[in-house]
Amino acid sequence: MQALSYVRPADTDTAIALVAGRPDGAYLAGGTTEVDLARLDVVRPGLLVDINDLLPDCVVELQGGGVRIGSMARMSDVACSPPVVERFPMISQALLAGASAQLRNMASMGGNLCQAVRCGYFRDVASACNKRDPGRGCAALEGINRGHAILGVSDQCIATHPSDVAVALVALNAVVHTRLPGGGRTISIDDFFLLPGDTPQREHPLDHGELITAIEVPAAPVARRSVYLKFRDRQSYEFALASVAAAIRVEDGTVTEVRLALGGVGTKPWRARRAEASLLGQPADEASFTEAARQELAQASPRPQNAFKVELATRAIVRALQTLTDGGAR
Ligand code: SF4
Repeated sequence: MQALSYVRPADTDTAIALVAGRPDGAYLAGGTTEVDLARLDVVRPGLLVDINDLLPDCVVELQGGGVRIGSMARMSDVACSPPVVERFPMISQALLAGASAQLRNMASMGGNLCQAVRCGYFRDVASACNKRDPGRGCAALEGINRGHAILGVSDQCIATHPSDVAVALVALNAVVHTRLPGGGRTISIDDFFLLPGDTPQREHPLDHGELITAIEVPAAPVARRSVYLKFRDRQSYEFALASVAAAIRVEDGTVTEVRLALGGVGTKPWRARRAEASLLGQPADEASFTEAARQELAQASPRPQNAFKVELATRAIVRALQTLTDGGAR
Protein backbone atom coordinates (compact mmCIF):
# COMPACT_ATOMS: atom_id res chain seq x y z
CA MET A 1 0.00 0.00 0.00
CA GLN A 2 1.40 3.37 -0.94
CA ALA A 3 1.55 6.23 1.57
CA LEU A 4 -1.42 8.60 1.48
CA SER A 5 -2.72 11.71 3.18
CA TYR A 6 -6.00 11.87 5.07
CA VAL A 7 -8.05 15.00 5.71
CA ARG A 8 -11.41 15.66 7.33
CA PRO A 9 -12.58 19.05 6.01
CA ALA A 10 -15.17 21.19 7.76
CA ASP A 11 -17.48 21.72 4.80
CA THR A 12 -18.54 20.20 1.51
CA ASP A 13 -17.12 22.94 -0.72
CA THR A 14 -13.67 22.38 0.74
CA ALA A 15 -13.98 18.62 0.28
CA ILE A 16 -14.95 19.01 -3.37
CA ALA A 17 -12.14 21.48 -4.01
CA LEU A 18 -9.60 19.16 -2.40
CA VAL A 19 -10.54 16.13 -4.49
CA ALA A 20 -11.10 18.08 -7.71
CA GLY A 21 -7.71 19.74 -7.25
CA ARG A 22 -5.70 16.53 -7.18
CA PRO A 23 -5.80 13.76 -9.79
CA ASP A 24 -5.06 11.22 -7.06
CA GLY A 25 -7.65 12.65 -4.65
CA ALA A 26 -10.61 10.48 -3.61
CA TYR A 27 -13.54 10.66 -1.21
CA LEU A 28 -13.74 8.37 1.79
CA ALA A 29 -17.24 7.44 2.98
CA GLY A 30 -17.86 4.12 4.76
CA GLY A 31 -14.62 2.79 3.31
CA THR A 32 -15.83 -0.81 3.35
CA THR A 33 -14.47 -1.47 -0.14
CA GLU A 34 -12.14 1.43 -0.80
CA VAL A 35 -9.80 0.75 2.11
CA ASP A 36 -9.45 -2.90 1.09
CA LEU A 37 -8.59 -1.91 -2.48
CA ALA A 38 -6.02 0.65 -1.30
CA ARG A 39 -4.36 -1.98 0.86
CA LEU A 40 -4.17 -4.28 -2.16
CA ASP A 41 -2.75 -1.49 -4.36
CA VAL A 42 -5.70 -1.95 -6.72
CA VAL A 43 -6.45 1.75 -6.19
CA ARG A 44 -3.71 4.16 -5.17
CA PRO A 45 -5.17 7.39 -3.80
CA GLY A 46 -2.62 9.94 -2.64
CA LEU A 47 -5.25 11.89 -0.71
CA LEU A 48 -8.36 10.59 1.02
CA VAL A 49 -10.96 13.23 1.90
CA ASP A 50 -13.31 12.05 4.64
CA ILE A 51 -16.91 13.14 3.92
CA ASN A 52 -18.68 11.20 6.66
CA ASP A 53 -19.71 14.33 8.60
CA LEU A 54 -20.57 16.49 5.61
CA LEU A 55 -23.56 15.00 3.80
CA PRO A 56 -27.13 14.04 4.72
CA ASP A 57 -27.47 10.64 6.37
CA CYS A 58 -31.24 10.30 6.66
CA VAL A 59 -34.33 9.47 4.62
CA VAL A 60 -36.71 12.35 3.92
CA GLU A 61 -40.31 11.76 2.84
CA LEU A 62 -41.28 13.80 -0.22
CA GLN A 63 -44.68 15.19 -1.03
CA GLY A 64 -46.47 12.82 -3.35
CA GLY A 65 -44.94 9.65 -1.96
CA GLY A 66 -41.28 9.60 -2.95
CA VAL A 67 -38.23 9.62 -0.68
CA ARG A 68 -34.88 11.37 -0.73
CA ILE A 69 -32.04 9.29 0.67
CA GLY A 70 -28.95 11.15 1.86
CA SER A 71 -25.81 9.81 0.25
CA MET A 72 -24.22 9.24 3.65
CA ALA A 73 -27.19 7.26 5.01
CA ARG A 74 -26.03 3.83 6.11
CA MET A 75 -27.46 0.78 4.38
CA SER A 76 -28.90 -0.60 7.62
CA ASP A 77 -30.65 2.68 8.49
CA VAL A 78 -32.28 2.92 5.07
CA ALA A 79 -33.35 -0.73 5.20
CA CYS A 80 -35.44 -0.11 8.34
CA SER A 81 -36.67 3.39 7.48
CA PRO A 82 -40.52 3.28 7.72
CA PRO A 83 -41.28 5.11 4.45
CA VAL A 84 -38.86 2.85 2.60
CA VAL A 85 -40.29 -0.32 4.14
CA GLU A 86 -43.88 0.76 3.44
CA ARG A 87 -43.52 2.37 0.01
CA PHE A 88 -40.56 0.53 -1.50
CA PRO A 89 -40.16 -2.89 0.13
CA MET A 90 -37.86 -4.01 -2.69
CA ILE A 91 -35.29 -1.41 -1.53
CA SER A 92 -35.40 -2.62 2.07
CA GLN A 93 -35.18 -6.27 1.05
CA ALA A 94 -32.30 -5.62 -1.35
CA LEU A 95 -30.33 -3.80 1.33
CA LEU A 96 -30.84 -6.57 3.87
CA ALA A 97 -29.74 -9.14 1.29
CA GLY A 98 -26.42 -7.37 0.79
CA ALA A 99 -23.08 -7.78 2.56
CA SER A 100 -23.11 -8.52 6.31
CA ALA A 101 -24.73 -6.74 9.26
CA GLN A 102 -21.43 -5.10 10.19
CA LEU A 103 -20.84 -3.84 6.65
CA ARG A 104 -24.42 -2.60 6.31
CA ASN A 105 -23.94 -0.52 9.47
CA MET A 106 -20.86 1.14 7.98
CA ALA A 107 -21.44 1.33 4.23
CA SER A 108 -23.08 4.46 2.82
CA MET A 109 -25.70 4.60 0.09
CA GLY A 110 -23.56 6.82 -2.12
CA GLY A 111 -20.62 4.48 -1.70
CA ASN A 112 -22.81 1.49 -2.48
CA LEU A 113 -23.55 2.90 -5.93
CA CYS A 114 -19.84 3.46 -6.57
CA GLN A 115 -18.53 0.16 -5.20
CA ALA A 116 -15.94 -1.65 -7.28
CA VAL A 117 -16.62 -4.91 -9.08
CA ARG A 118 -15.97 -8.19 -7.29
CA CYS A 119 -14.05 -9.79 -10.15
CA GLY A 120 -11.14 -11.65 -8.59
CA TYR A 121 -8.81 -10.63 -11.38
CA PHE A 122 -9.55 -6.95 -10.76
CA ARG A 123 -8.38 -7.39 -7.17
CA ASP A 124 -5.25 -9.33 -8.11
CA VAL A 125 -2.71 -6.81 -9.40
CA ALA A 126 -0.71 -9.65 -11.01
CA SER A 127 -3.63 -10.44 -13.37
CA ALA A 128 -4.55 -8.71 -16.61
CA CYS A 129 -7.55 -6.44 -16.10
CA ASN A 130 -8.75 -3.73 -18.46
CA LYS A 131 -10.80 -2.10 -15.74
CA ARG A 132 -7.78 -1.64 -13.45
CA ASP A 133 -5.12 -1.22 -16.16
CA PRO A 134 -6.77 -0.21 -19.47
CA GLY A 135 -5.36 -2.04 -22.46
CA ARG A 136 -3.78 -4.85 -20.47
CA GLY A 137 -6.41 -7.46 -21.32
CA CYS A 138 -9.10 -9.32 -19.44
CA ALA A 139 -8.07 -12.50 -17.61
CA ALA A 140 -11.70 -13.39 -16.93
CA LEU A 141 -12.58 -13.95 -20.60
CA GLU A 142 -10.77 -17.30 -20.64
CA GLY A 143 -10.40 -17.68 -16.89
CA ILE A 144 -12.75 -18.41 -14.00
CA ASN A 145 -15.94 -16.59 -14.95
CA ARG A 146 -18.78 -18.58 -13.37
CA GLY A 147 -19.97 -15.51 -11.48
CA HIS A 148 -19.53 -13.05 -14.33
CA ALA A 149 -22.08 -11.24 -16.44
CA ILE A 150 -24.15 -12.50 -19.35
CA LEU A 151 -25.88 -9.20 -20.20
CA GLY A 152 -24.19 -6.00 -21.35
CA VAL A 153 -20.78 -7.65 -21.75
CA SER A 154 -18.02 -6.53 -24.12
CA ASP A 155 -14.78 -8.14 -25.29
CA GLN A 156 -13.02 -5.79 -22.85
CA CYS A 157 -14.84 -6.71 -19.61
CA ILE A 158 -17.50 -9.12 -18.36
CA ALA A 159 -17.54 -8.20 -14.67
CA THR A 160 -20.91 -8.24 -12.92
CA HIS A 161 -22.12 -5.16 -11.10
CA PRO A 162 -22.13 -6.14 -7.42
CA SER A 163 -24.80 -3.94 -5.83
CA ASP A 164 -28.17 -5.31 -4.71
CA VAL A 165 -29.90 -2.06 -3.84
CA ALA A 166 -28.91 -0.51 -7.17
CA VAL A 167 -31.06 -3.14 -8.87
CA ALA A 168 -34.11 -1.98 -6.92
CA LEU A 169 -33.26 1.66 -7.56
CA VAL A 170 -33.04 1.02 -11.30
CA ALA A 171 -36.45 -0.64 -11.27
CA LEU A 172 -37.84 2.42 -9.47
CA ASN A 173 -36.41 5.10 -11.82
CA ALA A 174 -34.36 6.70 -9.04
CA VAL A 175 -32.32 9.85 -9.66
CA VAL A 176 -28.82 10.61 -8.38
CA HIS A 177 -28.08 14.15 -7.19
CA THR A 178 -24.49 15.36 -7.36
CA ARG A 179 -22.37 18.44 -6.68
CA LEU A 180 -19.45 19.78 -8.67
CA PRO A 181 -17.22 22.79 -8.05
CA GLY A 182 -19.44 24.75 -10.45
CA GLY A 183 -22.83 23.56 -9.22
CA GLY A 184 -24.84 20.36 -9.30
CA ARG A 185 -26.83 18.10 -11.56
CA THR A 186 -29.16 15.12 -11.54
CA ILE A 187 -28.50 11.84 -13.32
CA SER A 188 -31.09 9.15 -13.92
CA ILE A 189 -30.01 5.95 -12.22
CA ASP A 190 -30.03 3.98 -15.47
CA ASP A 191 -27.61 6.50 -16.99
CA PHE A 192 -25.50 6.50 -13.83
CA PHE A 193 -24.18 3.00 -14.60
CA LEU A 194 -22.19 2.67 -17.84
CA LEU A 195 -21.76 -0.44 -19.92
CA PRO A 196 -18.10 -1.51 -20.24
CA GLY A 197 -17.85 -1.21 -24.02
CA ASP A 198 -14.31 -0.20 -24.96
CA THR A 199 -13.79 1.78 -21.75
CA PRO A 200 -14.44 -0.58 -18.83
CA GLN A 201 -12.39 1.64 -16.52
CA ARG A 202 -15.17 4.23 -16.73
CA GLU A 203 -18.12 2.94 -14.69
CA HIS A 204 -20.04 6.18 -14.03
CA PRO A 205 -20.51 9.50 -15.83
CA LEU A 206 -19.14 11.38 -12.80
CA ASP A 207 -16.42 13.96 -13.36
CA HIS A 208 -13.39 13.82 -11.10
CA GLY A 209 -14.39 15.47 -7.83
CA GLU A 210 -18.13 15.18 -8.48
CA LEU A 211 -19.83 14.21 -5.25
CA ILE A 212 -23.06 12.25 -4.80
CA THR A 213 -25.26 14.10 -2.32
CA ALA A 214 -28.55 12.20 -2.45
CA ILE A 215 -30.60 9.53 -4.18
CA GLU A 216 -34.21 10.39 -4.92
CA VAL A 217 -36.82 7.70 -5.46
CA PRO A 218 -40.00 9.04 -7.09
CA ALA A 219 -43.42 7.94 -5.98
CA ALA A 220 -44.41 4.57 -7.40
CA PRO A 221 -47.63 3.17 -5.92
CA VAL A 222 -47.00 -0.12 -7.74
CA ALA A 223 -43.88 -0.59 -5.60
CA ARG A 224 -45.87 -0.97 -2.38
CA ARG A 225 -46.34 -4.50 -3.65
CA SER A 226 -42.78 -5.37 -4.60
CA VAL A 227 -40.08 -7.90 -3.85
CA TYR A 228 -36.34 -8.45 -4.18
CA LEU A 229 -35.28 -12.07 -4.60
CA LYS A 230 -31.61 -13.03 -4.54
CA PHE A 231 -30.09 -16.38 -5.52
CA ARG A 232 -26.52 -17.13 -4.44
CA ASP A 233 -24.16 -19.88 -3.40
CA ARG A 234 -24.76 -19.34 0.32
CA GLN A 235 -27.50 -17.62 2.26
CA SER A 236 -25.64 -14.57 3.57
CA TYR A 237 -22.56 -12.43 2.93
CA GLU A 238 -22.49 -13.47 -0.69
CA PHE A 239 -23.01 -11.79 -4.03
CA ALA A 240 -25.91 -12.68 -6.31
CA LEU A 241 -25.66 -15.24 -9.06
CA ALA A 242 -28.99 -13.81 -10.12
CA SER A 243 -31.44 -11.48 -8.44
CA VAL A 244 -34.70 -9.79 -9.34
CA ALA A 245 -36.41 -6.62 -8.20
CA ALA A 246 -40.06 -6.80 -9.19
CA ALA A 247 -43.32 -4.93 -8.78
CA ILE A 248 -46.54 -5.62 -10.62
CA ARG A 249 -50.13 -4.40 -10.84
CA VAL A 250 -52.78 -6.81 -12.04
CA GLU A 251 -56.36 -5.79 -12.87
CA ASP A 252 -58.97 -8.38 -13.83
CA GLY A 253 -56.21 -10.91 -14.33
CA THR A 254 -54.25 -8.71 -16.75
CA VAL A 255 -50.87 -7.06 -16.14
CA THR A 256 -51.37 -3.28 -16.26
CA GLU A 257 -48.06 -2.11 -14.77
CA VAL A 258 -44.77 -3.85 -14.06
CA ARG A 259 -41.22 -3.02 -12.99
CA LEU A 260 -38.41 -5.54 -13.40
CA ALA A 261 -34.66 -5.29 -12.93
CA LEU A 262 -31.96 -7.94 -12.64
CA GLY A 263 -28.79 -8.24 -10.57
CA GLY A 264 -25.93 -10.72 -10.70
CA VAL A 265 -26.20 -11.15 -14.46
CA GLY A 266 -25.42 -7.74 -15.96
CA THR A 267 -22.39 -5.51 -16.21
CA LYS A 268 -24.73 -2.87 -14.79
CA PRO A 269 -27.92 -3.19 -12.76
CA TRP A 270 -30.15 -4.43 -15.53
CA ARG A 271 -33.57 -2.94 -16.24
CA ALA A 272 -35.50 -5.73 -17.93
CA ARG A 273 -37.38 -3.53 -20.39
CA ARG A 274 -38.02 -6.30 -22.93
CA ALA A 275 -39.68 -8.39 -20.25
CA GLU A 276 -41.71 -5.43 -19.03
CA ALA A 277 -42.95 -4.67 -22.55
CA SER A 278 -43.80 -8.31 -23.11
CA LEU A 279 -45.92 -8.50 -19.95
CA LEU A 280 -48.12 -5.43 -20.37
CA GLY A 281 -51.64 -6.43 -21.34
CA GLN A 282 -50.94 -10.13 -20.90
CA PRO A 283 -52.55 -12.55 -18.44
CA ALA A 284 -50.75 -12.61 -15.11
CA ASP A 285 -49.84 -16.28 -15.33
CA GLU A 286 -46.79 -18.50 -15.51
CA ALA A 287 -46.85 -18.72 -19.30
CA SER A 288 -46.69 -14.92 -19.68
CA PHE A 289 -44.00 -14.60 -16.99
CA THR A 290 -41.87 -17.30 -18.63
CA GLU A 291 -42.24 -15.80 -22.11
CA ALA A 292 -41.27 -12.35 -20.80
CA ALA A 293 -38.21 -13.74 -19.04
CA ARG A 294 -37.12 -15.65 -22.12
CA GLN A 295 -37.42 -12.50 -24.25
CA GLU A 296 -35.18 -10.62 -21.82
CA LEU A 297 -32.57 -13.37 -21.62
CA ALA A 298 -32.55 -13.87 -25.40
CA GLN A 299 -29.98 -11.07 -25.56
CA ALA A 300 -27.60 -12.84 -23.17
CA SER A 301 -24.02 -13.65 -24.19
CA PRO A 302 -23.01 -16.41 -21.76
CA ARG A 303 -19.71 -18.21 -21.54
CA PRO A 304 -19.50 -21.95 -20.84
CA GLN A 305 -19.00 -21.50 -17.08
CA ASN A 306 -21.88 -19.09 -16.56
CA ALA A 307 -24.39 -20.34 -19.13
CA PHE A 308 -26.49 -21.65 -16.23
CA LYS A 309 -27.34 -18.04 -15.39
CA VAL A 310 -29.67 -17.82 -18.40
CA GLU A 311 -31.98 -20.42 -16.93
CA LEU A 312 -31.42 -19.21 -13.36
CA ALA A 313 -32.39 -15.64 -14.22
CA THR A 314 -35.39 -16.83 -16.22
CA ARG A 315 -36.67 -18.85 -13.29
CA ALA A 316 -35.88 -16.00 -10.88
CA ILE A 317 -38.08 -13.62 -12.85
CA VAL A 318 -40.94 -16.12 -12.90
CA ARG A 319 -40.54 -16.82 -9.18
CA ALA A 320 -40.56 -13.12 -8.29
CA LEU A 321 -43.69 -12.41 -10.31
CA GLN A 322 -45.44 -15.47 -8.93
CA THR A 323 -44.52 -14.38 -5.41
CA LEU A 324 -46.31 -11.09 -6.00
CA THR A 325 -49.34 -12.45 -7.80
CA ASP A 326 -49.94 -15.77 -6.06
CA GLY A 327 -48.95 -15.25 -2.48
CA GLY A 328 -48.84 -11.47 -1.99
CA ALA A 329 -45.75 -9.32 -1.50
CA ARG A 330 -43.29 -10.50 1.11
FE1 SF4 B 1 -10.99 -6.80 -15.23
FE2 SF4 B 1 -13.49 -6.76 -16.12
FE3 SF4 B 1 -11.86 -8.60 -17.02
FE4 SF4 B 1 -12.64 -8.70 -14.47
S1 SF4 B 1 -13.94 -8.95 -16.24
S2 SF4 B 1 -10.56 -9.01 -15.29
S3 SF4 B 1 -12.84 -6.50 -14.00
S4 SF4 B 1 -11.66 -6.39 -17.32
